[in-house]
Amino acid sequence: MNDRTPTTLSNSSPSTRRVFMLHALAGAGAAVWATQAEAQAALAETDAQAVALGYKADTTKVDKAKYPKHAATQLCNNCALYAGKPTDAAAACPLFPGKLVAGKGWCSAWAKKG
Ligand code: SF4
Repeated sequence: MNDRTPTTLSNSSPSTRRVFMLHALAGAGAAVWATQAEAQAALAETDAQAVALGYKADTTKVDKAKYPKHAATQLCNNCALYAGKPTDAAAACPLFPGKLVAGKGWCSAWAKKG
């Protein structure tokens, strides 16, 4: 073995890269990246929080007797909490971390977008 053994270089280089990546991820973009990475699975209507808020993936299926203030024009994609564009089929909602709500969905926390 000599002084220029590749083991030394290969042990330090990835570690340096890891430290750099951790610092990079700690930047302002990390929160957005993490939010997008977490929000992957579609929210099930049977999810306990979804049931509690009367969430339906199709706003026309909302129980009108239980939610008399609901209107068919109220959709996740025109709700103030919808994290996607109005044209997105699904997007994150802060009330359901880690899940995607349907653009044509609705829940009782619906709030008119600004
Ligand atoms: S808060 Fe708004 S975007 Fe979130 S599930 Fe309810 S209606 Fe949809």
